[in-house]
Amino acid sequence: MNAHYELPLEDAGYSFGFLDEYAKKEVRRCILKAISIPGYQTPYASREMPMGRGFGTGGLQLTLSLIGEDDTLKVIDQGSDDSVNAVNLRQFVQLTCPGVDVTEKTQEATLIQSRHRIPEKMLTEEQILVLQVPYPDALVVVEPSEARRKVMHGEADYSRLLVKLYEDVVRFDEITISHRYPTRINGHYVIDPSPIPRWDVPRLHQSPALVLLGAGREKKIYAVPPYTVAEPLVFDDIAFRVEDFRDANGQRIACRCCGSTVSFLDELIDDAGNITHQCSDSTYCEEQQETISARKRA
Ligand SMILES: [Zn+2]
Repeated sequence: MNAHYELPLEDAGYSFGFLDEYAKKEVRRCILKAISIPGYQTPYASREMPMGRGFGTGGLQLTLSLIGEDDTLKVIDQGSDDSVNAVNLRQFVQLTCPGVDVTEKTQEATLIQSRHRIPEKMLTEEQILVLQVPYPDALVVVEPSEARRKVMHGEADYSRLLVKLYEDVVRFDEITISHRYPTRINGHYVIDPSPIPRWDVPRLHQSPALVLLGAGREKKIYAVPPYTVAEPLVFDDIAFRVEDFRDANGQRIACRCCGSTVSFLDELIDDAGNITHQCSDSTYCEEQQETISARKRA
């Protein structure tokens, strides 16, 4: 026992960021390793958090290990700042990190923790995106043994994953994966990019912002460092394509609130049973609406 050891923030029940300094240091060391080997699933000692695993504990541990008093945090869940998961995680960070600012504006945030979406607005070099991951290993659908999966990753042997995609093409004429699309990072490791839609996958490629992925239950951290090649797994003759929101006439569907025809849309059914569409990124949608009303006023 080090006699000179001082508990940080003596008066508080917990240290800044809930986790103790040693835990945060270990997570940061794993982050550095994950950045050094892009796409490699770095094991770490995932801590017990005061919430159920599966509610973003992996992402939260990354955020708490990185956040400092100068940071501004944005938390989103499926593109929305106001859904239950996002609100609770944000409140928890505010409770355990006094002095940290929170925001809903993408461009103001230095740290963005997200579940299932990448913000519509282009991220910058000054920002870090933390994605919550339920299943870190893209190979889990074809190989149950983790030991064997590790060998396959080491040898960059993704032939069985490609066979799985090929079976999709044979059966449905196209690759039917809508979320968690296997993506090769820096020409070697294939990652599960967390349940982001296909729409968001190209935005990992050469992203100016550092993208960190944390799986609390599976105890893995991996990264897509800034300006790194990220390619969805495809065949030479079958191109990767994102969701195209077109109606029966081939017209691009617009958001019912802001009219945007370039954003990822959520499908909603209104009280009358009609299908309508709305931007999934709620902050983006609000900003588009503000721009339109400002233009009308001018
Ligand atoms: Zn909209």
